[in-house]
Amino acid sequence: MGTRIVVDYVLCQGHGVCESEAPGVFEVSKDHSVVVLSESPSEEHLAGVAQAVKYCPTHAISLVEDGDTSAAHDISSPTDNTASDEGVTP
Ligand code: SF4
Repeated sequence: MGTRIVVDYVLCQGHGVCESEAPGVFEVSKDHSVVVLSESPSEEHLAGVAQAVKYCPTHAISLVEDGDTSAAHDISSPTDNTASDEGVTP
């Protein structure tokens, strides 16, 4: 349903482009670590967040669908074998 922001803090180098594109959603502190102020941005912030995703120099920002299993269906494998991999004993 909602969209959630995920930041890869390993990739993030604190450039602050995200804060410029979406102030109020991202905040870069003095030690160059980014803080996501609103993980689930409102409609009004989505355009800025999309710009931040696009222009982040290290591509550290992702937008994922949150809690919408029907949307996730598009990117998930049609056959879910994850459960059958465990507990395989002869
Ligand atoms: S633009 Fe990217 S690299 Fe820069 S602070 Fe934001 S997430 Fe980190």
